[in-house]
Amino acid sequence: MYKHQRAAVLLALFLSTSLFLVAQKSAHVPTPSEFLGFEVGADRKLADYRQISSYFKALSAASDRVQIEVLGKTTLGEEMFMAVISTPENLRNKAKYQEIAHKLADPRGLTKDQIDALAAQGKDILLLTCNIHSDEIGSSQMAMEWAYKLATTSDPEKLRQLNDVIILLVPSLNPDGETMVTEWYRKYLGTKYEGGRMPYLYHHYVGHDDNRDWYMLTQIETKNVNHAVYHEWFPQFWLDEHQMGSYGPRIYIPPNADPVAKLVNPLVHRGNNLLGADMGWRLEEAGKSGVIYNYSFDAYWPGGTRSTGWWKNMYGVLTEVASARIATPMQISPTELQGGAKGLINYEQQINFPNPWPGGTWRLRDIMDYELIVSDAALETMSKYRADLMRGVATMAEQAISSADASEFWRIPLDDQRDPIVASRLAALMLEHGLEVRLSGDKKSFLIPTSQPYGRFADEMLGIQRYPEVRPAQGSGILEPYDVAAWSLPLMMGVKAEKVKLSSTEQQSSQPITSAAWPTGGSSKGQSNFYSVSNHQNNAFALLNAMQKAGAQVYLQRGTSEESLFILPAHPQLAANAEKLHIPLSPLSALPKGSIQLKPLRIGLYKSYIPSMDEGWTRFVLEQYGFDVKNIENKQVRAGNLNAAFDVIILPDSSREAIVDGRQGREGYSEELPPEYTGGIGREGVHALKDFVDKGGTLITLARASEVVMGEEFNLPVRNALAGAGGRGTLSTADFNIPGSLLRIYVDSSNPVGYGMPKEIAAFVDGPLAFQTSSPAPDTQRSVIAWYPDDAKDMLLSGYAHGAERLERKAAAVSFTRGKGKIVMFGFRVQHRAQTEGTFQMLFNAIEWPGME
Ligand SMILES: [Zn+2]
Repeated sequence: MYKHQRAAVLLALFLSTSLFLVAQKSAHVPTPSEFLGFEVGADRKLADYRQISSYFKALSAASDRVQIEVLGKTTLGEEMFMAVISTPENLRNKAKYQEIAHKLADPRGLTKDQIDALAAQGKDILLLTCNIHSDEIGSSQMAMEWAYKLATTSDPEKLRQLNDVIILLVPSLNPDGETMVTEWYRKYLGTKYEGGRMPYLYHHYVGHDDNRDWYMLTQIETKNVNHAVYHEWFPQFWLDEHQMGSYGPRIYIPPNADPVAKLVNPLVHRGNNLLGADMGWRLEEAGKSGVIYNYSFDAYWPGGTRSTGWWKNMYGVLTEVASARIATPMQISPTELQGGAKGLINYEQQINFPNPWPGGTWRLRDIMDYELIVSDAALETMSKYRADLMRGVATMAEQAISSADASEFWRIPLDDQRDPIVASRLAALMLEHGLEVRLSGDKKSFLIPTSQPYGRFADEMLGIQRYPEVRPAQGSGILEPYDVAAWSLPLMMGVKAEKVKLSSTEQQSSQPITSAAWPTGGSSKGQSNFYSVSNHQNNAFALLNAMQKAGAQVYLQRGTSEESLFILPAHPQLAANAEKLHIPLSPLSALPKGSIQLKPLRIGLYKSYIPSMDEGWTRFVLEQYGFDVKNIENKQVRAGNLNAAFDVIILPDSSREAIVDGRQGREGYSEELPPEYTGGIGREGVHALKDFVDKGGTLITLARASEVVMGEEFNLPVRNALAGAGGRGTLSTADFNIPGSLLRIYVDSSNPVGYGMPKEIAAFVDGPLAFQTSSPAPDTQRSVIAWYPDDAKDMLLSGYAHGAERLERKAAAVSFTRGKGKIVMFGFRVQHRAQTEGTFQMLFNAIEWPGME
């Protein structure tokens, strides 16, 4: 311990004693149960988000150790907040501690002594987030109890810890979902559906994928928290509390499982493991069994809350407690306990699982008790290693800076881009992540230094991935990735970005920017009757939609090359819309010959009671680009006569079983829902979809939903080339494994779905699906819109691909047309999680296609 640290501890002890007296003076602090009028954590009792929020407001009014910070609004307009908890003295000086945390996160210009001095003076900042997955409800309830405990404790040890640490406590990362889950739960309490799943996503758009959004930052809740973390508070540690399945271990704590990401500084894992060790100790000491580490959750994937920060030198861990049926207890027989995941194949004692839970009753109270212990352990660990953890952040930042070549930059050209707006969006995203982004002296490029505190994040996101083939034993298969295996943003977004070395003159002439430069929209060349817009911009579709809504007619002029033009007549709202969307308008004196009028279309998006996150993502992407989308549910599909209401119907990614039968899997137990939510579109629904196409409608199927079209009802010469033996099921991962990778595909840009697309693109592929077509009946045309290379060696651009030779010469997207009826089938993930902006246009084209006639 350094001398000044010892002084700080003495000072802390003095402060905590005096602060204790201050706390005593404040008003009576109500317990959560007193305040809400029921026993929080009791069986079948839940506080909803508004109750949680009102409790925290009351707590902050009564206690000078708790403040509320509003993070922003949620998707559905709820106020999202976090509680800032520490000693009153720390809270009064929070701006100072934010600044220290910021300096340690970006220690450029500081000497070692200055860093030590900051680490001695600073307070550790612990971000504890709860309930991102809304049915993982325990932590949202626990948060109130923990905050109460911290606000009222008179234990000198706890007070000392609070003096060392500022806690940022977010009781729910998805308030709208918390409300949905509690409403659903209360509605069916006392019925046979009690504690069962909801028939819809627990987020307006993305459901469980709200924890897949942390590098792309598409959702408002993600953006709110990201801003607080990387622009205001710079916490050193992020603890995110989740729940997992009910039949395995009781709690997962760090260390993580393999594989491990190459670019993450090992100090991140060392810090995480310190916390994991303390959590394990405190849990066992309290008699809590079933604690596991090195299990299931890898140290590789950057898409979740606490993991995106690893590349930004932040410690981050998650805990996962076994679930009850929401707030309803479960009886679990010892015979039902099972392993089956990485790190625990059989449910039995192992070194990473030294004290298996024997089975019995498991309830909300248990979940909250485990969570209270790990939350306390996090505070304790951060206090114990206060200065080390802070210095560690500065050390990692310095290593990120010094290990990179100072003349090396990621360059995103502004002018040499197919879609310059998406290129600016990528630069804006890097700024939002807290990175340093510069504009070159000639203002023609965004420049992102690799030698900066978050430089490894830039390398991870802008470079390519090669999934490590880690095998748990000689001769065994590889460890599967936890989620996807690729996140190369330039490839996904269709943006050119390259690593370049800059001369010192080029470096010096560049300037840091605080907001991205966007292309100038509108017309600079005065008034005209018509304007043309390149279809190389995703935003061009947003402009089309905006102008159609304003009552304008819009046209398409097919070019001879890959590029086509949208033609827009003069209109009072055109300039303002084009400016807002950053779209340059080129004046034309007249409507070019051969222009086709694009008719406005009525778009239906199928929504199953087996909630599909892809449905939500599709709706989100289409709304972002101004498409009017209406959901269609089973009953409406079954009723038929779909042409009366729709021109285009989209089936989002879902299995045939889910769409047709309303079942999760091919066989086995499927939890029952209230009758109005059971079943799928049925065979009559499939026939209604076929009838819709026969009568001139356009049906678009995304990924697995293509199985509906490949069924006998449609009787088309197309099958899944990666189906299992006898055409049933799909190949096993031993034969074919592409878990979410970017593959090269070729596009026919003379096909309406390929209009404006480059000949070669990166497609996001995450499952065993590729089309094998053959010649249809003479009245039907079949087109292969996109296909995989002849040689598997040319396929993988980023991620992991095992068995890629099975994709050789197979189709990635196909269409069938008969009369005016059209079917467009995408085998790859054309708008995956709103991340693959490079292929959005193919979906938009498919939607616009019927409007071209
Ligand atoms: Zn979760």
